[in-house]
Amino acid sequence: MDDREEELKKIKEEVLALTSSPLYAERVKNNYFPVIGEGNHAAKVMFVGEAPGQNEAKTGRPFCGRAGKILDELLQSVGIERKDVYVTNIVKDRPPGNRDPLPDEIALYAPFLDRQIKAIKPKVVATLGRFSMAYVMTRYGLDFELDSISKIRGQVFQADGFKLIPLYHPAAAIYNQQLLSTLKEDFKTLASL
Ligand code: URA
Repeated sequence: MDDREEELKKIKEEVLALTSSPLYAERVKNNYFPVIGEGNHAAKVMFVGEAPGQNEAKTGRPFCGRAGKILDELLQSVGIERKDVYVTNIVKDRPPGNRDPLPDEIALYAPFLDRQIKAIKPKVVATLGRFSMAYVMTRYGLDFELDSISKIRGQVFQADGFKLIPLYHPAAAIYNQQLLSTLKEDFKTLASL
């Protein structure tokens, strides 16, 4: 097993054993799985969502519910195959009732995301939603560019080691056609990278 596979396996084992997480009790109580990430381990593009929803926690697979359907559609619209990208979240366990992840939860799980980025070495990181945008931009030297997602979505930033493109969260487009069109435009920018 090469270093990348070794590290990704270690990350998985460590998240599985993360009994110190405030979300661990929920995982056990509901028979949920943590959602570590899925896709090509040598992907050029990595998507970073927020936290697993119920479908994801039941299956252990990221973006497999309604938001995932939209993500698949968006990828398809620009000719990118899901199997060629890597999809993960900042927070790897489901927050109860789909609430927003708390700062402490982000702080606890974010180092796993950092290690995934370091192992996979994507050329482009696309954040989905404001939580992953804020974390990745702050962590990778772009805090001075941070603004509301409606202002900076679809812009391309040079982060430390990869290009970063903040995108709206696909779930936000479930009942909002305007936002879906914006996402489609931004996926064209992403594909051009
Ligand atoms: N929303 C997310 O942010 N991540 C998922 O995996 C599913 C829905």
